[in-house]
Amino acid sequence: MSATLTGCDTPLAEAYDVALLDLDGVCYRGAERIPHAAEAVAAARGAGMRMSFVTNNAARPPSTVAEQLRSLDIPAEEAEVVTSAQAAAGILAAELPPGSAVLAVGGPGLRAALEAAGLRAVTSAEDEPVAVAQGFARDVGWEQLSEATYAIRAGARYVATNLDATLPTERGFAVGNGSLVAAVRNATGVEPVSAGKPQAGIFDHATERSGARRPLVVGDRLDTDIAGARAAGLPSLHVLTGVNDARDVLLAAPEERPSYLSTDLRGLHEPHPVPEPVADGWWQCAGAAARVHDEGGDRRLQLREEDGVRDLDPTGTARLTEDAWRAAAAAAWAVADEGAPLDPSACPPIEILPAR
Ligand SMILES: [Mg+2]
Repeated sequence: MSATLTGCDTPLAEAYDVALLDLDGVCYRGAERIPHAAEAVAAARGAGMRMSFVTNNAARPPSTVAEQLRSLDIPAEEAEVVTSAQAAAGILAAELPPGSAVLAVGGPGLRAALEAAGLRAVTSAEDEPVAVAQGFARDVGWEQLSEATYAIRAGARYVATNLDATLPTERGFAVGNGSLVAAVRNATGVEPVSAGKPQAGIFDHATERSGARRPLVVGDRLDTDIAGARAAGLPSLHVLTGVNDARDVLLAAPEERPSYLSTDLRGLHEPHPVPEPVADGWWQCAGAAARVHDEGGDRRLQLREEDGVRDLDPTGTARLTEDAWRAAAAAAWAVADEGAPLDPSACPPIEILPAR
C-alpha cells in the first residue's frame, strides 16, 4: 500500500459535506478548550458543512457528550454524536433478527444503544443471548466478564465496541476496554469483531447515519483516527492539537497516513496545496520543496525555499511552514514506499510556524 497527501483547491468545509470529528485532541483536550476549535466548527457549519462527532468512548451516552461540547461553546446536538456503542449495536442489528437477546457487558450507554437498534439487552448467559456486546464501564468486573465467557463458549457471537488497551485518566493510563476484552478472549479463545477506530465500522456507521456523500474524517491520532479513515476508504485531515505531532506524520506507515495536514481545525477553512514530485527527488508544495538527500550514506531531510536550500539538523528543532511540512511528509513517504525509509534518528522534532 502506498498513500500520500491529497490537494483541495477550495476550503475543505466547502469540498466535503460532513466532518467526522474525533473529540479528545480535536474538539477539546480533557476538560480544556483547544484554541480555534469552537470558532472553526461554527464557521464550518456556516459554510454548509455538517458535523458528526465520532468517539470510541462507549460509556458516555450521546447526550452527555453533546452537553460537554456545548459547555466548551462547540454547538452540538445529541443526534450528531456517534459512539462505538452505537456502531457495535449497528453491526449486530444488521446480522440479527429484531428483538434478539444480546448480553450487554458495559454501561448504560451500551444498553441504550442496543435497545435503540431494536435488540434486547440482557445481563446473564442464562437468558441465552445470541451475541455478546462488550464496552467499557468502570464497574465491569469478574461477574460480567464471566457471563460473557459462558455465553461465548455456548456459541454467542462476540462484538466489542473498541479495543483501546488503555484509558487516559487524570492519574495516567488505566485499563481500557481492549484489556478487559483480552480477559474474555483469553478465557474463550474467541476474537471479537471490533466496531471502534481503527476499524472501519464506526466510520461506516457515522457516514450512513449522517447521510454523508463526501465525508471527511478529522483526527489527532494516526493509529486510530487516520488508520480508521484509511480502513473505511475515507479522506482524512490530521491536526496537531492532540496526540501525534508533525514529526510522527513524516514517519507514518502507509495505512496511517492522512490526506490533509493542518496545525488545528482552521485547516477546514483553507484550500490544501498538494506536494508534487519535481526533479532530483524534490517534492514541491506551493512555495516550499523537500527531499531526502543521500550524501555518502548519510541521509538527511533537505528543504528548499525562496532563500535557498538547507539541511534539517536532526539534533535541533526544525521550524517549518505548513507547506514545507507537507512537502517533507511527501518526500519522507516516497522514500519509505521505495523501500528505504528515513531513519527516525535523521528526523528532527518539527515546529510549525504560524502562517496566519
Ligand atoms: Mg483523539
